[in-house]
Amino acid sequence: MLFRSGIGKTLMGDVSEKISIEKLLVACEVKSVRVVNPLNLKDAVKAVKEAVNEDGVRCIVFRAPCIALFKPQKKAVINNCRKCKKCIKELGCPALSLTDKTAVVNEDLCNGCMLCAGVCPHDCIEEVTR
Ligand code: SF4
Ligand code: SF4
Repeated sequence: MLFRSGIGKTLMGDVSEKISIEKLLVACEVKSVRVVNPLNLKDAVKAVKEAVNEDGVRCIVFRAPCIALFKPQKKAVINNCRKCKKCIKELGCPALSLTDKTAVVNEDLCNGCMLCAGVCPHDCIEEVTR
């Protein structure tokens, strides 16, 4: 049977048993397996730093709700941007770009993850309800 391992559905859309990626990795004798929400920037960075300092095969499963399946309820708005470009350089988010005057958010592409607010050193980015 063809399956998409992580989501519990076959390619035909039927509900099927979910396969746990982390259990699969442990079964393959990967000694270091972490599961982290990539939208929690602090935890995600910590997990990567820890894994980098370990020997052998190590895996990090980044798990968060799929943006293709959930309609965002929030979006980011930028006020008083200082144009330091940190949000753009560090995240590579397709919703962020820089104009002559400010960083801007394309609200059609923004899913409200608010990772950008976590990296802005000037607290210019706030979360608003759609
Ligand atoms: S909230 Fe998330 S998706 Fe929206 S601009 Fe910030 S980093 Fe990009
Ligand atoms: S990190 Fe903040 S101040 Fe810097 S460009 Fe982005 S929004 Fe502007």
